[in-house]
Amino acid sequence: MERINPATGEHVETVAEHDDEAVEERLATAADTYESWREVPMNERRQLLEEAADVLRENEQHYAELMTVEMGKPISQAKGEVRKCAWVCEHYAEKAPEYLQDEVIGGASHATTYVRHEPIGPVLAVMPWNFPFWQVFRFAAPSLAAGNVGLLKHASNVPKCALAIEEVFREAGFPEGAFQTLLVGGSAANEVIRDDRVRAVTLTGSEFAGKQVAKTAGEELKKTVLELGGSDPFLVLDDANVDAAVETAATARLQNSGQSCIAAKRFIVHDDVYDEFVDEFVAEMDAWTVGDPMDEETEVGPQAREDLMQDLHDQVEQSVDAGADCLLGGEPMDREGYYYPPTVLADLEPDMAVACEETFGPVAAVFRVESEAEAVELANDSPYGLGASVWTDDLERGERVAHRIEAGATFVNEMTKSDPRLPFGGVGISGYGRELAADGIREFVNRKTVWVQ
Ligand code: NDP
Repeated sequence: MERINPATGEHVETVAEHDDEAVEERLATAADTYESWREVPMNERRQLLEEAADVLRENEQHYAELMTVEMGKPISQAKGEVRKCAWVCEHYAEKAPEYLQDEVIGGASHATTYVRHEPIGPVLAVMPWNFPFWQVFRFAAPSLAAGNVGLLKHASNVPKCALAIEEVFREAGFPEGAFQTLLVGGSAANEVIRDDRVRAVTLTGSEFAGKQVAKTAGEELKKTVLELGGSDPFLVLDDANVDAAVETAATARLQNSGQSCIAAKRFIVHDDVYDEFVDEFVAEMDAWTVGDPMDEETEVGPQAREDLMQDLHDQVEQSVDAGADCLLGGEPMDREGYYYPPTVLADLEPDMAVACEETFGPVAAVFRVESEAEAVELANDSPYGLGASVWTDDLERGERVAHRIEAGATFVNEMTKSDPRLPFGGVGISGYGRELAADGIREFVNRKTVWVQ
């Protein structure tokens, strides 16, 4: 696996993949560890998650630098990511007993009946590079709290992040085998899914990888949770506070240098505020500091890989060739590394690439609509359904519109974000299943019905 610094294009290191023997050893360890881990009392598991949070906080700078070198995330955002991982560990340390308590169900007059939550075994996580720590921890914390053990097949461009995460759990005192990294590519991951010792799979990534993994898991009758892409709408209605909407719109599009599944991608703006919004939005997008991701002041870093930057630029070029108006950016930056500037496109038709495909980079597509109904219709005119954001000064109206949007989450007067306390996931081709909160920890447990008479 090649470590390439996207800020410079420089080859940093080659990390050897695990061979079949090494994978087999880890699978055997996972299965063995599961038998004892499932019996460890909840209070001990909680304590270990607290320790993991401490290890993360103590090594914030080190882990942040690993992310920044491997995938180009601005260092200040990388540190924030480490802190968020500590938060999710603490969240499940505190809440797991409540989320997993027995659910007593009345109704059977001569019996006690309840649902009990039992672990299911080793779970494989196929994870992406864009939030190389967060995506993993939001799976690992609930899964370990529930008594499962974790196996991580991370994206091939972040091998040192993958190894560091294994190390966090080891340093925290989790037993050997509670959480292990497999340094393997996509096709080897499918072999792992077929292994009898692996009981379920969660994947965050592209639609393509999601289909492959779901197909293999389906053939083996194993459960999957899929968190795939998004083309989230950001609706600015006629009564919105435009200044507030603009400021959040830029953050919602440019966070993580635009490489987020829940980034706002389609900005759907009412005609009454369109000109004001677009003028301010272009200025705001232009004001973000693009630069060396190791610099604390940098707000937008390079794209994580050269091929991904080129894919993004192809989408922009195709849209401009088809008649879109490029109001800002639109060309790779003339410097070393894989830098793409904040870009705004307007005058779009629904079938243009930036309008109907996921844009995984700092490219905003802006649409003008004449009414609330047209805004909702356009928002829903997408096979994706991850998140959405609605801006209005009338909160009742905001909720009404939120209820009509086909998405896994809709935020009124706020950008879409993931939060350990709230369920997270999509509908349509954005995937299925939920992560985080009570829903997340219950995805990979056996909800066993018990009848006692
Ligand atoms: P991928 O979906 O290819 O990568 C995500 C993970 O899936 C990686 O661990 C990858 O491994 C693995 N994977 C890829 N193919 C297979 C397969 N056939 N079987 C099993 N595992 C597989 O994403 P990319 O990095 O190529 O990014 C492409 C696009 O995907 C982005 O532009 C974006 O649109 C979307 N994406 C969405 C993310 C999200 O948060 N929802 C995150 C990342 C990407 P390996 O790296 O070894 O190929």
